[in-house]
Amino acid sequence: MANLVIASDYSRFPQRPSAALLLEVHGNRGHKSLFDSTTPPGPAVDAFLPTAQLDPTRTKEFLMASTGTIRHLWALEAPAITVHRSVIQLLADGDITIPSATFVIEHPRHGLLAFDTGLAIDAAGDPHHAYGQMADVFPIDFPESRRLDRQLADLGFTTGDVKRVVLSHGHWDHTGGLAHFPDAEGFVGAGELDYVHRPGRQDAAMFRTSDLDGGPQTWHAVPAGVDHDVFGDGSVVVLSLPGHTVGTLGLQLRFPDGRTFVLTGDAAHLQEALALDAGMPFDVDPRIKRTSYQRLRLLASQPDTTVWVNHDPRDWATHRENGALVI
Ligand SMILES: [Zn+2]
Repeated sequence: MANLVIASDYSRFPQRPSAALLLEVHGNRGHKSLFDSTTPPGPAVDAFLPTAQLDPTRTKEFLMASTGTIRHLWALEAPAITVHRSVIQLLADGDITIPSATFVIEHPRHGLLAFDTGLAIDAAGDPHHAYGQMADVFPIDFPESRRLDRQLADLGFTTGDVKRVVLSHGHWDHTGGLAHFPDAEGFVGAGELDYVHRPGRQDAAMFRTSDLDGGPQTWHAVPAGVDHDVFGDGSVVVLSLPGHTVGTLGLQLRFPDGRTFVLTGDAAHLQEALALDAGMPFDVDPRIKRTSYQRLRLLASQPDTTVWVNHDPRDWATHRENGALVI
């Protein structure tokens, strides 16, 4: 069993504290660096960073201009990953077990849309098969029963019924199930897929490009600073929330009962981190991420609006108290 060693030297990069973290794996065969983020980001990061100014009030205009709603939201049973808290919130302590979520949304006229796809199909029942040493560093609980195709079948659907997939960002714990949906239309933040294939040293281990190979062949890029109303009726709006990665996206959903839910993807990892303005080690730009945090807090302040931080186990328990069917 490998041990995770976290060494921080924030003094070296005071202007980019979130980039100064070193993770090493100590196992039976010596040790090696999994992530060496003590190297400042190079041109690979900066070349993709968004330059557009975000307008936190824009979402409200969508709500006022249209009246569509979704029919159902399911938060499928999720594989779980155990990590040291500092891996998802700088300077936090202790271990935490977090869900690796997939959401399925049913629109009354346009059918099914998935938001994120969780862990790799070939990790089900045997995480080491897909992730190797990563599965030692981050213990994974992924029984076969949590495969996306099986859960969709239990709901009376096939994977082919999912016509659209919105990918919050390109990290491995979100791209794993893309190969279930080769014929779906994909939506991704502009620059994200380019960065996945040409990452900087500091976060290269967070990407698994093979997940993308079998996934959607058509991708729509959503520019930073732009939101995209997927069905043109305000029911499902892709939100630009960059900073964690170059093209991080969230998803805003309007329910038939008048409530609005905002799924954060990894624009925030924990409600506590969002409240404290705390970053995480692999944020590509902490300054831009804080702008996205600001936007999420503004959205949460709107009437009848809930911001669901997708990796937060407390949010998961709160919003899934009746099981997968949220509404
Ligand atoms: Zn994640």
